[in-house]
Amino acid sequence: MNAPAPIGLHHVTAIAGDPVENLRFYRDVLGLRLVKRSVNQDDPATYHLFYADGDGHPGTDITFFPWAHASRGTPGVGVVQETYLTVPEGTLEAWERRLEAAGTYTDPIARRFGDRVLPFADPHGLRLALVEGPEPFAFTPWRDGPVPASEQIRGLHGARAPLREVAPSERFLVDVLGFERAGEEDGWVRFVLPGGPAGGAGRILDVREERDTRRGAWGVGSVHHLAWTVTGDDHQVALREAVARAGRRPSEVIDRFWFRSVYFMEPGGVLFELATEGPGFAVDEDPGALGERLILPPWLEPHRLRIEAVLPDLSAADAPAVAR
Ligand code: ZN
Repeated sequence: MNAPAPIGLHHVTAIAGDPVENLRFYRDVLGLRLVKRSVNQDDPATYHLFYADGDGHPGTDITFFPWAHASRGTPGVGVVQETYLTVPEGTLEAWERRLEAAGTYTDPIARRFGDRVLPFADPHGLRLALVEGPEPFAFTPWRDGPVPASEQIRGLHGARAPLREVAPSERFLVDVLGFERAGEEDGWVRFVLPGGPAGGAGRILDVREERDTRRGAWGVGSVHHLAWTVTGDDHQVALREAVARAGRRPSEVIDRFWFRSVYFMEPGGVLFELATEGPGFAVDEDPGALGERLILPPWLEPHRLRIEAVLPDLSAADAPAVAR
């Protein structure tokens, strides 16, 4: 028997350059709330910055490891090429003006699979696209943010990645993870998680076969992994077992404190995670003050002074965003 499909994207994690530039762009230009200021649990001398909606809902969250001195990523097969973010219908022109005013070059507004999209890159070369669409999932506006609530980014919409071969990934996405094939356009094959009443944000993954493209490599400006939401521990264990039966060698369940994670590569080489919905970002902070101070998981707390001494200074970006 198949395990139920994940309900959508939980978060997308990418590699950034300078953390101050990252914070200024995602908080002050895109208007996402910094909901958690922590460290990379595998490399505590590096920040892990989490941006999301006002309440830090799973499915609204894009997170970064800022490695200011790392080399740029190399686009190619097996690496996510673009991350989609949902915005309300009719807001792309306002977004175009906002990004232009911030000095961000955007591609022309286009239509893909029937949706209006605005593609652009962040200051470190990470490709993003705002996609107009409905938001039948949990979202809370960030009241103190710089973007009017009616135009704010609603959450993750999906992602796309070129692959050397689509067929093995298609079998895995459909037979193991429960995606449905939902069409093809310009060579991109769209897979969608079934959703339904419990459907979350970010249910789309587009892949395109590129036989002659070289393997991509992680670096500044590339997505590190896509995390898909599982509703709880039982769901996570069932899907992990299905992934293992498919020969994808998942990691053990790792406690990330705000959620629990399992990692594996899908057959095309894209790193996936299965992340639990809870306990959530408010487990160790006042919801009104999320992201204001450095939060460490309990096992790193004894090393706080040493960690704080080596982390880059973010105070240059700590001026509060101006509401308007
Ligand atoms: Zn993750």
